[in-house]
Amino acid sequence: MKKEAAYSKQTKYIFITGGVLSSLGKGIASASLGYLLKQRGYKVTIMKFDPYINVDPGTMNPLQHGEVYVTDDGAETDLDLGHYERFLGYSLSKKNNSTAGQVYFEVITKERKGHYLGKTVQVVPHITNEIKRRMTIFDGEYDFILIEIGGTVGDIESLPFLEAQRQIGLERGHANVLNIHLTYVPYIKAAGELKTKPTQHSVKLLMEFGIRPDVLLCRTEHKLTKELRQKIALFCNVEENSVIDVVDVDATIYEVPMMFAGRELEKIILNKVGLPLNELDISAWKKFVDKIKSPKYEIKVAIIGKYTKYSDSYKSIIEAFVHAGSINNCKVAIELIDAEEINKDNAASLLSELDGILVGPGFGQRGVEGKIASIEYARTSGIPYFGICLGMQCGVIEFARNVCKMPEATSGEFEANDYCVIDIMEDQKSVKEKGGTMRLGAYPCVLKKDTLVFKAYGEENISERHRHRYELNNKFREVLEQNGMVVSGTSPDGSLAEIMELPDHPWFVGVQFHPELKSRAVTGHPLFISFVKAALKRRNEKS
Ligand code: GLN
Repeated sequence: MKKEAAYSKQTKYIFITGGVLSSLGKGIASASLGYLLKQRGYKVTIMKFDPYINVDPGTMNPLQHGEVYVTDDGAETDLDLGHYERFLGYSLSKKNNSTAGQVYFEVITKERKGHYLGKTVQVVPHITNEIKRRMTIFDGEYDFILIEIGGTVGDIESLPFLEAQRQIGLERGHANVLNIHLTYVPYIKAAGELKTKPTQHSVKLLMEFGIRPDVLLCRTEHKLTKELRQKIALFCNVEENSVIDVVDVDATIYEVPMMFAGRELEKIILNKVGLPLNELDISAWKKFVDKIKSPKYEIKVAIIGKYTKYSDSYKSIIEAFVHAGSINNCKVAIELIDAEEINKDNAASLLSELDGILVGPGFGQRGVEGKIASIEYARTSGIPYFGICLGMQCGVIEFARNVCKMPEATSGEFEANDYCVIDIMEDQKSVKEKGGTMRLGAYPCVLKKDTLVFKAYGEENISERHRHRYELNNKFREVLEQNGMVVSGTSPDGSLAEIMELPDHPWFVGVQFHPELKSRAVTGHPLFISFVKAALKRRNEKS
């Protein structure tokens, strides 16, 4: 009771779990619902709880887990945080993502300090209490806190999270806590039927853990008939209007909020928690989606990297192109090209049809020579080039080798010689542990007037997110600049080169930071918008 009195707002909690199988799009569903509640005038945040033991995904190979998303406050997080930010349109923090690893780490560290002296430390209550502490950390600050639980119901790892969910439901009461369960209703071709049994089983499993779903989102290829919805409602103990079919969207994930609104999802939720509906304002979003669905133009852009077998490794970059494409009335067809397949001899034949080339972030030497060959081709043929993080560093190496005539130019990440035009940052030299120790999060950057990037941003002071250990070596800045490279963005004290560009080229920009992490639906990111515009110009000039 005492704690309740301190609330400035009665926060409503919405849990989102997944059943039957993974990859059903819980992240997009959570982001879409969050967006709709926000557009009905509510203050919303979204949290993700990941059941794996890694403290964060920072040391995981992107081919396993997709891109590592970085927040302003420097947390390396799950890529679902990217969906949340892109849909909500504002920044989240490290508190929005927790892993089982972080939870156990915290409890075990406390145990070692003697915090639990005399007690046996157990999953219930010690682990579950720590999970609950994290789930309710924003209590009173928001009208709605959406909590997505990673994995699929029934996974061993996710049990403590479901137990925390159950307890929060009990403690705060049904008026304040709703459970949404996302399931799958497969279409069996041979029978010509949609099957509800997997959904029934998944809900049964959830109920074994003491959680009764209030809303079922049924992912399906075909619309559910009224009879099927009635059947699911009856067998799963959910109100009929709360069984919602989520039919695959064909054009873009940004249609999902509109589909949810069409099914009245956020209305159903507001009714259940007894809050006024308010007006729903999604006109700008609709325009944004219309332009994605019927673009006037089309361009072809390549993302060159070494994680190209799994497109989620470049999730935010791909989404940033969707945003920038819509703003330019243009579909950006993306080709993912494995850097190891490119060399000096085949670069022209592989890349000449492209309207833009992007070399993405990465770690380690594999594929670097292919990236450098691609950049040389982009530089000499006038194809717009966008280098992000390692892509910027490779741009500097290419320029040093081929323009400044330093054939041995390299990065300290690959080789130690006298020509490390990219080298380890001073404060990274003493770093021994790999987890969470890079230069991470948002840092200010000052742009040079009369440059391409200054024009793109339309302002002098920007802030962008970082994730790197290496930087442009200032020993070589002068020779690079004498040969025509412009350092068009630096840290406020001028010591760190954040952006390089080539003024003699139609569009050649390399950035040490990750602009893709700040690109949002509807508004996009200035650099992606400018790059797509340049690529479109090239395409139009060709035809
Ligand atoms: N490997 C490079 C560094 O650590 C680039 C990192 C990146 O592309 N995110 O500086």
